Formats: sequence, C-alpha cells, structure tokens
Amino acid sequence: MELYKNQQIEIYNSLSGKKEVFKPLHEGNVGMYVCGPTVYSNVHLGNVRTFMSFDVIYRYLKHLGYKVRYVRNITDVGHIVDDVDDGEDKIGRMARLEKVEPMEIVQRYTVDFHTILHQLNFLPPSIEPTATGHIIEQIEIIKQIIDNGFAYETNGSVYFDVVKFNETNHYGKLSGRNIDDMIANTRDLDGQSDKKNPQDFALWKKAEPEHIMRWPSPWSDGFPGWHLECTAMSTKYLGNQFDIHGGGMDLKFPHHECEIAQNEACTGHSPVTYWMHANMLTLNGKKMSKSTGNNILPGELFTGENSILSKAFAPSVVRFFMLQAHYRSILDFSNDAILASEKGFNRLMEAFAVLPSLPASNTSTIAIQAWKQSCYDAMNDDFNSPILIAQLFEAVRIINLVKEGNEQLTKADLNELSHTLSGFIFDVLGLTDEKSSSKSNDKLEGVIELLIAMRNEARANKNFALSDQIRDQLDALGIQIKDGKEGTTFTLN
Ligand code: AMP
Ligand code: ZN
Repeated sequence: MELYKNQQIEIYNSLSGKKEVFKPLHEGNVGMYVCGPTVYSNVHLGNVRTFMSFDVIYRYLKHLGYKVRYVRNITDVGHIVDDVDDGEDKIGRMARLEKVEPMEIVQRYTVDFHTILHQLNFLPPSIEPTATGHIIEQIEIIKQIIDNGFAYETNGSVYFDVVKFNETNHYGKLSGRNIDDMIANTRDLDGQSDKKNPQDFALWKKAEPEHIMRWPSPWSDGFPGWHLECTAMSTKYLGNQFDIHGGGMDLKFPHHECEIAQNEACTGHSPVTYWMHANMLTLNGKKMSKSTGNNILPGELFTGENSILSKAFAPSVVRFFMLQAHYRSILDFSNDAILASEKGFNRLMEAFAVLPSLPASNTSTIAIQAWKQSCYDAMNDDFNSPILIAQLFEAVRIINLVKEGNEQLTKADLNELSHTLSGFIFDVLGLTDEKSSSKSNDKLEGVIELLIAMRNEARANKNFALSDQIRDQLDALGIQIKDGKEGTTFTLN
C-alpha cells in the first residue's frame, strides 16, 4: 500500500496564511508547478535554495507513493529588467550587450542551470517548458481574457484591467494588498501611459523597433507579458486547476497575484489549491540577487574560489546546509555556517557507515517504529527538513548507543533503522555519500585484483579454460586485462 495513505501532510498555504491538510484534486496524483529561472545569467545560490526546497518536496511526495507531475519552466522571454512592464527584456539586454542572439544567452545559461542542479543531485522535473515555446497558448489566453471583458488593447499592446477585474473578483488576495491603497499610493508619472490605470499589467507588449525578441499576434508584432507564461504553461500541462504552485517569496507580488487574476479572468476560477513560497537566502543580511551582485555562485562553493570561503565544499554539504533551515525561514549564508554543516553531515554519514557492523540482539530496548514515525511527522508538518535532520541525529545517537553496548536492537529493528535512514538521507533529502562512491571504486578495484590473482593461479596450473573465461568475462564488462613485464594490469572503461 502506498505510504501516503498512512501519512497526513499539512502544507502552509500562502493564500490562506494557514497550514492546511493536503488533499490532492485526484487521489494519488499531484500536479505541481514551480516558476523556473530567467536564464540571462548564472544561477546563484539563492535561486538554488528555492529550487532545492521544491526538489525536496517533490522527492517526499514521490517517496510517499504519489504520482507527481512536476512542471518547472524556463523563462526565456518577457521578463523585463526591474520586473516592470516597460523597458528592456532581461535576455534581450544581455544579447545586445554581448552582440549575440538572445537564444545564445538562453542556451548558455540553461546549460549552466542544468549542470549546477545535476551536480547538486536535483531530480529533473517531469516537464520543463519554455516561454518562447508557448507563445501561441499565451495569445489564446489573451484573446479569452479580452472576450471576457477583463483586458483592453491600446496602441498594439494589451493590458489586464485590474480595476474592472476587482469589481467582481479580489485582486490582492494572495499578497494581502488592497487595490484602493495601491491606487491611492501611485501616480502615473509621465501621464502618457497606454494603461487605463497604473496597476494594470501587460499581457502583450508591442515591440519597439530595437526590441529583438518579437512574434506576430492579432494586436502587433510583440512579446508576451512575464506573468502570462506561467499561466499558459501551468494550465497546459496540469489543467485549469491543479494542486501546488511554488516559487520564491519575492514572486508573490506581482507575479503570482497576476497569475491568479489571469486564470480567474480566463476560466472563471482560481487555478491553484496550495500556494507555496520559499524564503530567501541572504548574504551579509541582504537578499542574494543577480541584479545587485550580492550573490555567490554554486560553482565557487565547489572549488572554494571566493574570498569569503576558507575551502571548497562538496555539493551534498551545500544541500545539507540549506536543508538545515525550513523553507519558509530566511537563511543567511556564511563560511562558518557551512563549515558547521559539513561537520554535521560527516557525523551523519559516519554513523550510517557503521550501521551494517552493529551487533543484533534478541530484544530491542529502543522503539524504532516510533522514531521512524517522527521522521515522517517532521516532513508531514509542512516539509520541516530541519526537524527531520534533528531526527536523523537522534538515529546517530541510537547507533552510537548500540555500538557501545548501552542499548540493544534486534536484526529486524536494525534493518528498519537502516532502511528508514537511507530513505530519508538519500531519497528524500537527496544527499549523496561522495566518500562512499570513492570507497565503492576501491572495492571494485580490489575485486578485479583478486580475479587477476585467481587467473594467474589458473594459468600456473595450466587451467587455461578458467583463465580465459576470467579474461573474457571481464572484457565483456568493459574491464581489459593486459599482461606485461611488470605483471598484469587492467583498464576500466
Ligand atoms: P529568477 O531567475 O530571478 O526568476 O529567480 C528564480 C527563482 O529564484 C525564483 O523563484 C525566485 O523567487 C528565487 N530567488 C531569487 N533570489 C533568491 C534568494 N536570494 N533566495 C531564495 N530564492 C531566490
Ligand atoms: Zn512564474
């Protein structure tokens, strides 16, 4: 039976401001959409933190046996510098500065994003759609919103009519903003805007002659507004209503508020059951950000090449450091903090490594099932990874007590402890034991040396059938044996 039938998850829903029992729209299936990166520069550690929070949520849901469709997009058009409507596209700007095609910028930083996430052992999402690949879908949504009376065209651009929408719906329900306050607090500075109200946002923008990224549409040659892509891609792959929508806290307003408005204006109902927002990674107490330069790159952590780092850190240590904070808390990066995480991570891995050598007893003096359930309880409580990690250290304590003979566990309980620990450490938290993979290489080499010694003995005994069999079967596995003056050597392919 699937584990989720016995575990009840509660998710903090940003829309209600409360923890709510998680109940997917279709039993056993979960649809989850997470806003992906805007690929105009290298992914920084702050971005990685948000994506890692959702990687662990994805992993846990899968661990519980849910069939999850996880969609995380690539923003390759429409995101304007400073997150506003007027101005240059972030990708178009880089292309202009570097005198390359916008798609060369997109390709370079998409590859960087994938490489870094792979190094950090992220699971790839089920679908990774791009905004430029969904221009037609975006145009169709705009047509529908215009037909429904919630958008208007001016000079080739189309804007969402926030004031009109707010007469029948609630603009501001996610971010807690009040439209009357917004109107009272804003002035249209140049007075020449195409918008009826400054709160209105672009669904389609007519491209100025110098704007490189442009597509034909019923209104003008132009490009879609930033918020629209996520509405188009989430509903295309997950349906008009789906379970979880995530992103960083800074996307709540205006991005996600506008997504809700677009969906309601298009289909008449709210798209998402649970809105989830991950908190920021800070450096020197300030948000890490691409545009301000207050950031650190994951690659610099792996090599240690940054003046604030005393050494290099393995990808799993970076994961462990991030997961020691709850996804809704701010986490400040510092060399000392990650050094402390490295110590903790090593202690956990060392304890896990001694588990197979622990002696089994006839009776258990510790309740392993209760400990196991506390691991699930931690993750069921709004994916509380720091509490889970505290439970993993409780297991370290248990292992040490059994090792020293102060507590006893039966064979079955030892197996349960080992199975549960490896499930949470490797499958749910996505950590890897870099040392143990080099250890397994050592083991493989030891086994090959042993086979070579046996082959030499067979040859000395003139048992050529056996010696040839060893050589041929190793060869079939991609392990080539060479006999030379210095003895027999091997190469691994
Ligand atoms: P962007 O590529 O700027 O669109 O951002 C990609 C994701 O990273 C979004 O979900 C942002 O909310 C998130 N993000 C940006 N800066 C930070 C930060 N300092 N800490 C955590 N998440 C961040
Ligand atoms: Zn988005």
